[in-house]
Amino acid sequence: MDKRAVTCPKCSHQMEEMKFAGIDLDSCPFCMGCWLDAEEVSQMTRSRGNAKLKVELTSPKQGELNCPRCRPAQAMNVGPHVDIPTLQLDQCSKCGGVWLDRGELTTLLSHRGNT
Ligand SMILES: [Zn+2]
Ligand SMILES: [Zn+2]
Repeated sequence: MDKRAVTCPKCSHQMEEMKFAGIDLDSCPFCMGCWLDAEEVSQMTRSRGNAKLKVELTSPKQGELNCPRCRPAQAMNVGPHVDIPTLQLDQCSKCGGVWLDRGELTTLLSHRGNT
């Protein structure tokens, strides 16, 4: 319908735009995961002041999910977040977008960096 239409990389449902902390992100109404474009990740960093939203994976390897943005399909990398070993993230190495499963965005935002 519009240029921002995104299909969930996990369950293929049509994702819906959602406002979160002033940012428009895409959220899947079915599995409750959400997609952040690279620029949305950086916007979120700024809106949080000093609390940096860092998205960096420890030794990323190719995962099973395809990036919902890139055409042709691009397999995303998966790996634990550098500061939060329990948090597994999926990130597209091509466009820099990030897929977060249900609850992972909250985990990411509630984590305080060491600065
Ligand atoms: Zn989904
Ligand atoms: Zn991508």
